Amino acid sequence: MATVEATKDSTQQVSRHQEVGHKSLLQSDALYQYILETSVYPREPESMRELREITQSDALYQYILETSVYPREPESMRELREITAKHPWNLMTTSADEGQFLNLLLKLINAKNTMEIGVYTGYSLLSTALALPDDGKILAMDINRENYELGLPVIQKAGVAHKIDFREGPALPVLDQMLENKEMHGSFDFIFVDADKDNYLNYHKRLIDLVKIGGVIGYDNTLWNGSVVAPPDAPMRKYVRYYRDFVIELNKALAADPRIEISQIPVGDGITLCRRVI
Ligand code: SAM
Ligand code: CA
Repeated sequence: MATVEATKDSTQQVSRHQEVGHKSLLQSDALYQYILETSVYPREPESMRELREITQSDALYQYILETSVYPREPESMRELREITAKHPWNLMTTSADEGQFLNLLLKLINAKNTMEIGVYTGYSLLSTALALPDDGKILAMDINRENYELGLPVIQKAGVAHKIDFREGPALPVLDQMLENKEMHGSFDFIFVDADKDNYLNYHKRLIDLVKIGGVIGYDNTLWNGSVVAPPDAPMRKYVRYYRDFVIELNKALAADPRIEISQIPVGDGITLCRRVI
């Protein structure tokens, strides 16, 4: 799946990355309307009708990066971001503002036992590892070890590699194996899902039992390049078109799932946070 997400027409993707890769996708009224209608209004308490518009322009995004993100980005994360920028699939990396968001979120919820599905060169992994206490754990899975090893020296230098248990291979069988062990049920404080979008609902079916009640699952790329609001006949890259319907289905399913509270946040390409309540 990595190859589908990242390698098709990589030259064009890199230039698209330069154009739009690291800015909030909440740029059109249609996209904002989509979030409201899919994930907010159906679950909004009566008293909270008014929502503020958030990031809407490149200049505003640049302002966020330059004012609040880059000056506080740990040296190791900057180094990893720069290494990743030279990689041909760099479109896949987590943006610096999302990395900062994840890091803060993990601290806010006091996460200790975590999981990441979809590592690539490890930017979100490093932001997680830096946030966890020294005895914190991350079960990290990816079908591609080579890209993980590209970032690994930076993670080691940052002194947080001991928190990571990297498993090479598809994530689903690992989840199924964990589910067989009742002790693993409800054991994760936080799970970040950033891999094959056509499997997100399959992940959700399993992760809902592995995350603890009160714990959080974050599904990444839930705005999927803004394609969730594009008309079906709009021109789209093949991989964007292929995964679009899966992301749309996921968004509807999460919004309708009574086992979780959700918030779809327009950071990066959109991350939907799901807090398990039952
Ligand atoms: N979180 C990463 C970061 O911050 O750079 C980006 C992850 S990238 C968008 C998606 C990753 O998912 C790729 O590295 C790909 O190899 C991995 N992947 C794709 N299918 C997978 C699967 N079935 N199981 C585990 N990982 C998978
Ligand atoms: Ca992502």
